[in-house]
Amino acid sequence: MKVIKTIKEMNEFSSQGRGAGKTIAFVPTMGFFHEGHLSLMREGRKRGDLLVVSLFVNPTQFAPHEDFKNYPRDFEKDRRMAEEAGTDILFAPEADEMYPSDHQTTVLVERVTRNLCGRSRPTHFGGVATVVLMLFEIVMPHVAVFGEKDYQQLVTIRQMVRDLHMSVEVVGMPTVRETDGLAMSSRNTYLLPEERNAALSLYRSLRRAKELLQKGEQKASRILDEMNGILRSESLVRTDYVQICDALTLEDVDRIEGDVVIAIAAYLGKTRLIDNLVYRHL
Ligand code: AMP
Repeated sequence: MKVIKTIKEMNEFSSQGRGAGKTIAFVPTMGFFHEGHLSLMREGRKRGDLLVVSLFVNPTQFAPHEDFKNYPRDFEKDRRMAEEAGTDILFAPEADEMYPSDHQTTVLVERVTRNLCGRSRPTHFGGVATVVLMLFEIVMPHVAVFGEKDYQQLVTIRQMVRDLHMSVEVVGMPTVRETDGLAMSSRNTYLLPEERNAALSLYRSLRRAKELLQKGEQKASRILDEMNGILRSESLVRTDYVQICDALTLEDVDRIEGDVVIAIAAYLGKTRLIDNLVYRHL
C-alpha cells in the first residue's frame, strides 16, 4: 500500500489506472478505523481492481462548536488497518491543500439534507457534499462505498450523483455493530463506561421499532412513543431526534406503507451519536 498526500499525485495515479483499463473503488473516511470502515474496504476490494481509501478529517462538515479539533486520530494504526484490508492507496491530503485560502464553493443538496441531522447541523451536509465531490474529482472512482450508519449522508451523496449526472456508482453497506448492538463509530471512543452502557438504549429502541413493524404496526406515532419511552428510561441519554422517514425522500411519514428509515440522534454527555434502521417492505 502506498500513502499519497498530494492531489496531483492521487490524480495521476487514478488517470494511469483508468488508462490501463482498471476499475477504481473508493472508500472516503475520516479515519480512526473500526470494523465498519473495514467492511467498506473489503467491499471496495471486491468491486475494484484498485482500492483507494481517503483519510481526511473534513473541517467544513463540523460547525465551530463541534469536535473537529478533538476528533480521534491515529494515523499509524489506520495505515496498518487499511493495508491489511487490501487497500492500494491511502490518500491523506492536508486541509490547506483541499481548501486553499481562496476556496469559496459549497455544494448544496437541498431537500434531503433539511430534515433529521440537517435540523441541528445545518451546515454539515454542505461540507460533506463538497468534500465528496472534490474527492470524486481527484480519485475518479468507478464505484464508491458508503455506510448506511450515516444514512442521510448516503442519501445525500446518491442525490448529488444523480443531480450532477456523475458517473460513479454509489454502494451502501449495512451498519456494523459491537456484539451488544452498539453501532460502531469513531466517536464511541469519547464515551465514559456509564455513557457507553446507556448508549445501548438507542439500539434497544430500534429493535423495539422493528418488532412493532414486523407485527404490522403502521402508525409512526405509536412506534415513536415506545422508542421515546425506552430512551427516556436512560437519564444519561438526551435525545436530539427520533423520526420515521421515507427511505428515499427523508420526509417524515405518519403511516408506514413503503420503505422507511427509523433514525435517532442523541447526546451522551457531549458526544452525539446517531443510529438508524432501514425497514424495507418486501
Ligand atoms: P467516517 O470515518 O465516520 O466519516 O465514516 C466513513 C465511512 O464509514 C462512511 O461511509 C460511514 O457511513 C461508514 N461507517 C461508519 N461507521 C460505520 C459502521 N458502524 N458500519 C458501517 N459503515 C460505517
